[in-house]
Amino acid sequence: MTLSVRSGPQIPLLILLVLFSLVVSSPLLASGQAKPPYYQKISELTAAVEAEIIAIRRDIHAHPELAFQEHRTAALVADHFRKLGLEVRTGIGGTGVLGVLKGGLPGPILAMRGDMDALAITEETDLPFASREKVLVGGRETGLMHACGHDIHTAMLLGVASVLSRMKNQVPGTILFVAQPAEEWGDGANKMLQDGVFRDYKPEAIFAFHVDDTLKAGYAHYVPGYAGANCDTFFLTIKSEGCHGADPDQCVDPIVVGSHVVLALQAMISREIDVHDHTVITVGYFHAGSATNIIPEKAELRATVRSYGDEQRIRLKEKITRTISGICQSHGARYELDYQFGTPALYNHPELLTAILPTAELVLGGKDRLIEDRPEMGGEDFSHFAREIPGVMLSLGVVPPHLERTSVHSPTFIADEKAIGIGIRLMSSILMDYARKPARLRVRGFKK
Ligand SMILES: [Zn+2]
Ligand SMILES: [Zn+2]
Repeated sequence: MTLSVRSGPQIPLLILLVLFSLVVSSPLLASGQAKPPYYQKISELTAAVEAEIIAIRRDIHAHPELAFQEHRTAALVADHFRKLGLEVRTGIGGTGVLGVLKGGLPGPILAMRGDMDALAITEETDLPFASREKVLVGGRETGLMHACGHDIHTAMLLGVASVLSRMKNQVPGTILFVAQPAEEWGDGANKMLQDGVFRDYKPEAIFAFHVDDTLKAGYAHYVPGYAGANCDTFFLTIKSEGCHGADPDQCVDPIVVGSHVVLALQAMISREIDVHDHTVITVGYFHAGSATNIIPEKAELRATVRSYGDEQRIRLKEKITRTISGICQSHGARYELDYQFGTPALYNHPELLTAILPTAELVLGGKDRLIEDRPEMGGEDFSHFAREIPGVMLSLGVVPPHLERTSVHSPTFIADEKAIGIGIRLMSSILMDYARKPARLRVRGFKK
């Protein structure tokens, strides 16, 4: 562009062009829409509650509780909801809490979920609110720590409830705030569903955050479709009569049989599973024997089996069962196999995700702040909710400015608390924007 500001008649054109380029490059219009008027209100209310919510987060962080023992946290959550005037149900699926906000405008029922449980890890940060709590696990004393960011998830849940309840006359429909226990055990969401968390109010969409230990605050990851894996387990015992190590023909050697099983399972993945079907089998536990010259009476193997999709997990179970059975039979070994389906794969409903991405872009301030990520083979029990109703989990960056990255499930995990206000604004906006969509533009019903 070579316009001269000194030549009179070109000035209006220049101004027009500058204005035009400002509008086109503005993040406000990055996705073809202007910021709705209530965004300002959400920002103001977030700023007003942020300090209180960060204080609550620190309190929860200093007092972590293990799965299904989140009594203090649940009481704090319920108390906060009551103070906001929400309808509250407690003790759902153990320690789960539901807060119901009825908006002043007609609209759908939507839900936000936060998880409350901590991990048996001894905190090694020097934060002034670091956890000093202890717990007995398997007879051994260990520390307790919010090393997976669930304190932040719960704090954001309370923050969004605070913001939206203060502008409830503008809120369309009903918003459910679901504080769930025992995410780390992969069972809390399921227990809440079994206990009828959505008996009286059935949401048509549910949203959640997880902290992201690879991104800075202000950035978010999203994954369309499968984002986390089925987390299944098997327990195998290979049996023998046991005999002298010098007379191996006298009994089955369960260690040799077990070794064949481990290797055959890896070969099975590479030869029998479609290369596009992400699959992991890790035999992480193989215990047998007591001496060099004794063939033991049993070998115990335990494995985690990761995959995506219901059909795939069923097929895998059949193949693993067949492989184990065939190998044991060929060696004349007796065995017991206990195969358990655990947390199902997390499925981010692609249409629902597409519907909320423009909001995320607006709130975070541009496309570059929102990064599509690859699916993981880890587990996340939000999947139980997202099987019942369309759901989306976004990962919010929490890496502090002075670090390259931080690491969840580690004793040194620390998070940038700036992410809390960002998350509150983001989820409040997602809920408001989505609730205001006409029914024909919302994702209806389910099955993926
Ligand atoms: Zn975790
Ligand atoms: Zn987690």
